[in-house]
Amino acid sequence: MKITRIDCHVLLDPGYDIGATSSAQDDIVVEIHTDQGLTGIGESDVNPWIARACIQAPSTHTMGLGLAEMLIGEDPLRVEELWDKLYVGSAMNGRRGAVIHAIGALDMALHDLRGKALGKPCYELLGGATKSHITPYASLQPEVSSFDAYRASLLDWAATAKSLGFRAAKLEVTPSGPYRHKGLHATQKEVTETIGAVRESVGPEFTLMVDVQYGFPDADTCLRAIRDWVDFNLFFVETPLPSDDLAGYARVATEQPIPIAAGEWLATRYEFLELMDRGKIQVVQPDMGRVGGLTEAKRVCDLALDRKLTVVPHLWKTGISIAAAAHLAAATPHCAFIEFLPASLCASALRKELVSDELRMIDGVVPLPVRPGLGVELNREALSRFSRAAEKVM
Ligand SMILES: [Mg+2]
Repeated sequence: MKITRIDCHVLLDPGYDIGATSSAQDDIVVEIHTDQGLTGIGESDVNPWIARACIQAPSTHTMGLGLAEMLIGEDPLRVEELWDKLYVGSAMNGRRGAVIHAIGALDMALHDLRGKALGKPCYELLGGATKSHITPYASLQPEVSSFDAYRASLLDWAATAKSLGFRAAKLEVTPSGPYRHKGLHATQKEVTETIGAVRESVGPEFTLMVDVQYGFPDADTCLRAIRDWVDFNLFFVETPLPSDDLAGYARVATEQPIPIAAGEWLATRYEFLELMDRGKIQVVQPDMGRVGGLTEAKRVCDLALDRKLTVVPHLWKTGISIAAAAHLAAATPHCAFIEFLPASLCASALRKELVSDELRMIDGVVPLPVRPGLGVELNREALSRFSRAAEKVM
């Protein structure tokens, strides 16, 4: 089997709000076609116009090869070897950042293709199932403009998530830092009180995480604040500090008892090695597309296992990434949860409509996927509607 063509779809939610913090409003979706009529699909969480350029740019020299050009004519079953080929061949343009995120979409599509070609779900080709089901957690990020409304929404959504059957939820509590949005402001005391109120309302058995989205400027400020959260029995606190402050992460992760999670922005296992070994975090959060696809996410999981760390993939995209994360989780014994933006609690039309048959949660868990490959199909009508919305912008 040979790769014959790669389509890149730049997609935009027609109702997107440039002031919103949600990256689920746009998408790059790739389709890799073969001479045997099979097609694999993948996506990544990066500006889709940039990702398309990374994939379609022509080769100009031996260390600056085009990603699509490197794949045309190749056997798509050699997934891991193709990842290494793309990484080395694009080295002077890539190695990190957008080129790796674009490779992630291609790699996801190759895993989908390989599964379809061999008639097996992706997780069976990633080492096989290590559990009977996958446990999702709900990410709760109200888009409101006052802290009072935010507090009310969080309490309301946490109750809704629990009533939908979720056993775990993550509170996006972001009144400071780069993800602060819509004029939200709160004192540290108000934030602590809000987390406490949610814990009180969902009860002690429910798993709670908190994501402050890089909200503390330094380790001392962070430590002062989150030591007040120890009694809330949090599964982790996510990205407390600026991404590059690894010395700060090491202090926050070792000078108080709540596990620290991070990694959603990172590209390649090499960035994760820095985060694990220098940043000393306890929970690693590869994003399926951004890290470089399922191939690289699996390598990160293996490195995390060596270090006895927990994996909880980051996910803020569509049913394609949900499927990819589910396959990774199935094959990864130390993957505790996958992030799951409930369609009923999110604003993104892409998240709701792009995939017609996404994995579903039943009684609080996602059963292991059974169909070959990733096991999801694109909704063509939605795809062309989102493509047209993107064309209007550029
Ligand atoms: Mg986050």
